[in-house]
Amino acid sequence: MIAGDGKTIQSAIPLANVASSKRSSFSFEPNEQLGALKRLDAEDLVWMGVYHSHPNSAAIPSIADLEGAGDHGLLQLIVSLKSSKPELQLWRIGASGVAPLELIFDTQTDAGYDEPPLSQQQRAAIVTTAVISLILMLVISFALLPPAPASAPLP
Ligand SMILES: [Zn+2]
Repeated sequence: MIAGDGKTIQSAIPLANVASSKRSSFSFEPNEQLGALKRLDAEDLVWMGVYHSHPNSAAIPSIADLEGAGDHGLLQLIVSLKSSKPELQLWRIGASGVAPLELIFDTQTDAGYDEPPLSQQQRAAIVTTAVISLILMLVISFALLPPAPASAPLP
Protein backbone atom coordinates (compact mmCIF):
# COMPACT_ATOMS: atom_id res chain seq x y z
CA MET A 1 0.00 0.00 0.00
CA ILE A 2 1.11 3.57 -0.64
CA ALA A 3 -0.14 6.34 1.58
CA GLY A 4 0.32 10.01 2.27
CA ASP A 5 -1.59 13.24 2.63
CA GLY A 6 -3.75 12.53 -0.43
CA LYS A 7 -1.40 14.44 -2.72
CA THR A 8 2.08 13.26 -1.84
CA ILE A 9 3.07 9.66 -1.29
CA GLN A 10 4.88 9.60 2.04
CA SER A 11 4.77 6.01 3.14
CA ALA A 12 4.71 2.49 1.76
CA ILE A 13 3.47 -0.52 3.67
CA PRO A 14 4.44 -3.91 2.24
CA LEU A 15 1.64 -6.51 2.33
CA ALA A 16 1.92 -10.17 1.47
CA ASN A 17 0.56 -11.26 -1.87
CA VAL A 18 -1.93 -14.04 -1.15
CA ALA A 19 -3.11 -14.50 -4.73
CA SER A 20 -3.00 -18.07 -6.00
CA SER A 21 -0.98 -17.06 -9.08
CA LYS A 22 1.47 -14.58 -7.55
CA ARG A 23 3.37 -13.84 -10.75
CA SER A 24 0.29 -12.63 -12.62
CA SER A 25 -1.93 -11.10 -9.95
CA PHE A 26 -2.00 -9.92 -6.38
CA SER A 27 -4.47 -9.73 -3.55
CA PHE A 28 -4.25 -8.87 0.12
CA GLU A 29 -5.13 -10.96 3.12
CA PRO A 30 -8.15 -9.06 4.55
CA ASN A 31 -6.89 -8.97 8.16
CA GLU A 32 -3.45 -7.75 7.12
CA GLN A 33 -5.07 -5.08 4.95
CA LEU A 34 -7.28 -4.00 7.85
CA GLY A 35 -4.21 -3.81 10.13
CA ALA A 36 -2.44 -1.64 7.56
CA LEU A 37 -5.45 0.66 7.24
CA LYS A 38 -5.58 1.04 11.04
CA ARG A 39 -1.88 1.84 11.08
CA LEU A 40 -2.38 4.52 8.40
CA ASP A 41 -5.27 5.95 10.39
CA ALA A 42 -3.12 6.09 13.53
CA GLU A 43 -0.37 7.87 11.58
CA ASP A 44 -2.90 10.31 10.10
CA LEU A 45 -2.16 9.10 6.58
CA VAL A 46 -4.59 8.54 3.70
CA TRP A 47 -4.53 5.30 1.74
CA MET A 48 -3.63 6.48 -1.77
CA GLY A 49 -3.14 3.25 -3.66
CA VAL A 50 -1.04 0.18 -4.14
CA TYR A 51 2.39 -0.63 -5.52
CA HIS A 52 3.38 -3.90 -7.10
CA SER A 53 5.80 -5.30 -9.63
CA HIS A 54 5.43 -6.73 -13.09
CA PRO A 55 8.26 -9.27 -13.25
CA ASN A 56 8.01 -9.91 -17.01
CA SER A 57 5.93 -7.12 -18.51
CA ALA A 58 5.89 -3.35 -18.92
CA ALA A 59 4.78 -0.98 -16.14
CA ILE A 60 1.29 -0.76 -17.65
CA PRO A 61 -1.82 -1.85 -15.70
CA SER A 62 -2.88 -5.37 -16.65
CA ILE A 63 -6.50 -6.42 -17.14
CA ALA A 64 -6.35 -7.93 -13.63
CA ASP A 65 -5.04 -4.58 -12.28
CA LEU A 66 -7.95 -2.75 -13.92
CA GLU A 67 -10.51 -5.24 -12.68
CA GLY A 68 -9.04 -5.26 -9.16
CA ALA A 69 -8.75 -1.49 -8.91
CA GLY A 70 -12.48 -0.77 -8.91
CA ASP A 71 -13.49 2.83 -9.45
CA HIS A 72 -12.12 4.40 -6.26
CA GLY A 73 -9.51 6.44 -8.11
CA LEU A 74 -6.70 4.72 -6.25
CA LEU A 75 -3.15 5.05 -7.52
CA GLN A 76 -1.23 2.12 -8.92
CA LEU A 77 2.54 2.40 -8.74
CA ILE A 78 3.89 -0.32 -11.00
CA VAL A 79 7.52 -1.38 -11.13
CA SER A 80 8.50 -3.27 -14.25
CA LEU A 81 11.41 -5.66 -13.81
CA LYS A 82 11.33 -6.70 -17.47
CA SER A 83 14.72 -5.17 -18.27
CA SER A 84 17.83 -4.83 -16.13
CA LYS A 85 16.86 -1.26 -15.18
CA PRO A 86 13.60 -1.20 -13.21
CA GLU A 87 10.93 1.06 -14.67
CA LEU A 88 8.45 2.94 -12.48
CA GLN A 89 5.10 4.27 -13.62
CA LEU A 90 2.31 5.75 -11.57
CA TRP A 91 -1.31 5.39 -12.73
CA ARG A 92 -4.67 6.63 -11.55
CA ILE A 93 -7.40 4.12 -12.21
CA GLY A 94 -10.92 5.30 -11.61
CA ALA A 95 -14.41 5.55 -12.98
CA SER A 96 -13.22 8.18 -15.45
CA GLY A 97 -10.57 5.89 -16.89
CA VAL A 98 -6.89 5.11 -16.64
CA ALA A 99 -4.34 7.90 -16.68
CA PRO A 100 -0.56 7.88 -16.32
CA LEU A 101 0.73 10.35 -13.74
CA GLU A 102 4.13 11.94 -13.52
CA LEU A 103 6.20 10.83 -10.56
CA ILE A 104 8.12 13.68 -9.01
CA PHE A 105 10.66 12.70 -6.38
CA ASP A 106 11.20 15.05 -3.47
CA THR A 107 14.96 15.26 -3.34
CA GLN A 108 14.77 17.54 -0.29
CA THR A 109 13.51 14.89 2.08
CA ASP A 110 14.51 11.71 0.28
CA ALA A 111 18.05 10.61 -0.38
CA GLY A 112 16.69 8.99 -3.52
CA TYR A 113 17.85 5.89 -5.27
CA ASP A 114 21.59 5.40 -5.19
CA GLU A 115 23.27 3.54 -7.97
CA PRO A 116 24.75 0.35 -6.56
CA PRO A 117 28.54 0.56 -6.21
CA LEU A 118 30.59 -0.86 -9.06
CA SER A 119 31.83 -4.40 -8.64
CA GLN A 120 35.53 -5.27 -8.75
CA GLN A 121 35.06 -6.70 -12.27
CA GLN A 122 33.29 -3.55 -13.48
CA ARG A 123 36.12 -1.36 -12.12
CA ALA A 124 38.72 -3.63 -13.76
CA ALA A 125 36.81 -3.49 -17.07
CA ILE A 126 36.68 0.32 -16.98
CA VAL A 127 40.42 0.65 -16.20
CA THR A 128 41.35 -1.96 -18.85
CA THR A 129 39.23 -0.20 -21.47
CA ALA A 130 40.82 3.15 -20.61
CA VAL A 131 44.36 1.72 -20.85
CA ILE A 132 43.63 -0.06 -24.17
CA SER A 133 42.08 3.16 -25.55
CA LEU A 134 45.17 5.14 -24.55
CA ILE A 135 47.55 2.60 -26.13
CA LEU A 136 45.47 2.48 -29.34
CA MET A 137 45.41 6.28 -29.50
CA LEU A 138 49.23 6.44 -29.14
CA VAL A 139 49.76 3.69 -31.76
CA ILE A 140 47.44 5.44 -34.23
CA SER A 141 49.07 8.83 -33.53
CA PHE A 142 52.58 7.45 -34.20
CA ALA A 143 51.37 5.62 -37.32
CA LEU A 144 49.99 8.89 -38.70
CA LEU A 145 53.19 10.87 -38.11
CA PRO A 146 54.92 11.88 -41.36
CA PRO A 147 58.25 10.17 -41.97
CA ALA A 148 61.21 11.87 -40.38
CA PRO A 149 63.18 14.09 -42.83
CA ALA A 150 66.32 12.51 -44.20
CA SER A 151 69.17 13.68 -42.06
CA ALA A 152 71.80 15.74 -43.78
CA PRO A 153 75.16 13.96 -44.13
CA LEU A 154 77.68 15.11 -41.62
CA PRO A 155 80.49 17.18 -43.05
ZN1 LIG B 1 -0.11 -5.22 -12.30
